[in-house]
Amino acid sequence: MSELDGKAAFVTGGSRGIGAAIVRRLAADGADVAFTYVSDAGAEQAEKVLADVAAAGRRGIAIRSDAADAASAVDAVARAAEALGRLDIVVHNAGVFPSGPVEDVTLAELDRTLAIHARAAFLTAQASLAHLPDGGRIVAIGSSLAERVAFPGVTLYSMSKAALSGLVRGLARDLGARGITANVVHPGSTDTDMNPANADHAQAQRDLTAMGTFMNADDIAATVAHLAGPGGRYITGTAITVDAGATA
Ligand code: NDP
Repeated sequence: MSELDGKAAFVTGGSRGIGAAIVRRLAADGADVAFTYVSDAGAEQAEKVLADVAAAGRRGIAIRSDAADAASAVDAVARAAEALGRLDIVVHNAGVFPSGPVEDVTLAELDRTLAIHARAAFLTAQASLAHLPDGGRIVAIGSSLAERVAFPGVTLYSMSKAALSGLVRGLARDLGARGITANVVHPGSTDTDMNPANADHAQAQRDLTAMGTFMNADDIAATVAHLAGPGGRYITGTAITVDAGATA
């Protein structure tokens, strides 16, 4: 028997990168998984993720939903719960990476980034509460840049991810009596389309870590799986940083 047998999970931004690794890992551990994507390219990638979920013998559902749109974010949770019949594990992972001089950040970019990273995390968790049973799990994917910023140009990004620490602390207090946990996982530099390990700026990121390395999306998924499984039962209201020591 696998750790998540019989569980149902919902992951935002599950078509690529860290989110796709989380979907695959939760399915490998026994969960049925619904996940969102937003783009046409994401729709293609979603087909591959669905094939892997099916190969693991689990049900997979791909939902097109824009986390920047409040109604769409809330609707995706309802669609996932309806398709799977329940929700035990909810992961808000969808994200973008705005960067550049702080003087150049537009109001539209500010609002969109906060909507995807912070507002959608709140709305996804809030909408899940009607479905999560006692012992349910809420996980947000943050960033090590929420905790320490080692280079310029990411003020908006780090601010938007820092909101997740407050979110999970509050949720832990709101939901603790129901045995529902809420945590944020802060990845460091992880090889994905957002942050390829062979890009020009990758070596500078490696040099910032204690271990001299990028991580793979599977490394982040492993921590999410632990939080979702029996071992995560009493971990709540906290941040777990998986960054090869970049913030050590
Ligand atoms: P990718 O760009 O590889 O994947 C992003 C995923 O989010 C895709 O599935 C994408 O869907 C989805 N997505 C983006 N915008 C939206 C939206 N508006 N609505 C719904 N889904 C959306 O990124 P990563 O896998 O690298 O990042 C995943 C998370 O991890 C993000 O929150 C990111 O901030 C965080 N992170 C990443 C780090 C890294 O080094 N890679 C480091 C620290 C944190 P689609 O395929 O349709 O575009």
